[in-house]
Amino acid sequence: MPTLVMKFGGTSVANLDRIRRAAKRVGVEVAKGYDVIVIVSAMSGKTNELVGWVNETSPLHDAREYDAVVSSGENVTAGLMALTLQEMKVPARSWQGWQVPLMTNDAHSAARIEEIPSENITASFAEGMKVAVVAGFQGVSPKGRITTLGRGGSDTTAVAFAAAFEADRCDIYTDVDGVYTTDPRITSKARKLDKIAFEEMLELASLGAKVLQTRSVELAMRHKVKLRVLSSFEEQSDEAGTLVCDEEEIMESNVVSGVAYSRDEAKMTLISVADRPGIAAAIFGPLSESGVNVDMIVQNISEEGRTDMTFSCPVDQVTRAEKAMADAKASGDINYHDLVADTDVSKISVVGIGMRSHAGVAAKMFSSLHDEGINIKVITTSEIKISVLIDRKYMELAVQALHDAFELENAG
Ligand code: ASP
Ligand code: MG
Repeated sequence: MPTLVMKFGGTSVANLDRIRRAAKRVGVEVAKGYDVIVIVSAMSGKTNELVGWVNETSPLHDAREYDAVVSSGENVTAGLMALTLQEMKVPARSWQGWQVPLMTNDAHSAARIEEIPSENITASFAEGMKVAVVAGFQGVSPKGRITTLGRGGSDTTAVAFAAAFEADRCDIYTDVDGVYTTDPRITSKARKLDKIAFEEMLELASLGAKVLQTRSVELAMRHKVKLRVLSSFEEQSDEAGTLVCDEEEIMESNVVSGVAYSRDEAKMTLISVADRPGIAAAIFGPLSESGVNVDMIVQNISEEGRTDMTFSCPVDQVTRAEKAMADAKASGDINYHDLVADTDVSKISVVGIGMRSHAGVAAKMFSSLHDEGINIKVITTSEIKISVLIDRKYMELAVQALHDAFELENAG
């Protein structure tokens, strides 16, 4: 039997009525002849509530107990989904992570999947079971303790099952009807994309488009899992949603597929550091050790052996970055005149695999920002992405202008 993985996010299982609606969709796929593996999230809001209880009980908690508590939300929905399917006369049973068993490492609260042996679930399908309802987000460590995969981890569970069972497709049911050219709250011209390449989705996911957990996209790309994002609130059809797929499957790719933004960034500049071998390591080593996620880095031309070094990081890490730099200065590892933090910047990025073969994307981006009178503070590029830092007050305007400039209202 061909296998299909269907994942339902928190809003799609938010109450018994929605679970029934989701179960009906599962029933449709079973009727087509699929063995279905359903991955469920906790009911929306449940995981936040559980995390809150843990933090209130024990601020510096034992991560193993955090996982024991926080994984429970998914157990509830898995059991309820199995019961709902049974009521519909669809043979189904629930599986908690340890029963599969979904094996992870022992990095509690951020565990990585190591193996999903398929024997148990395959045997149950062979005995006439039609649906395996698996609790997402959880697994079991080598020591036999329950682990969780990090927030949003059910997406990763779903893709991992699709890879392990060589599923025809992995459908991610959520509360949006697909992946958009940009955030529809910023411009009504945002369009749903029919297809997007793994690499593009990876860039968009890590840039803050919150539809899929970034790790799930990495995993899908590595194992070539066909991933579809679609709404559980709209009519089902084979073309619904957005297919995240291999670049080769996209006949006519857009030069630019999307405009992403990250609102709360900071730009930090170390004024006048000695320009000598090892200086970058002496700056960025301590930053990384203090848990600062440095994104863009620019080193200026040096004058008389001194230079300015600029980097960006999330705005809530500024204090940590300042402390790391002050400590490095105090210990004599680096020496700078001043550290200037600009905490009112946002990052805007245009993403598209077509950039590999088309020149002029950067020029067009910069000129359309110039037309709006927006000053660019830092620029970085990769093969399929150009990012700029700008003043936060122009963020919406910049997204709208770039969406227009690359005619993304005609995408999809
Ligand atoms: N329930 C978990 C969370 O809210 C996992 C998930 O839904 O993906 O993070
Ligand atoms: Mg999610």
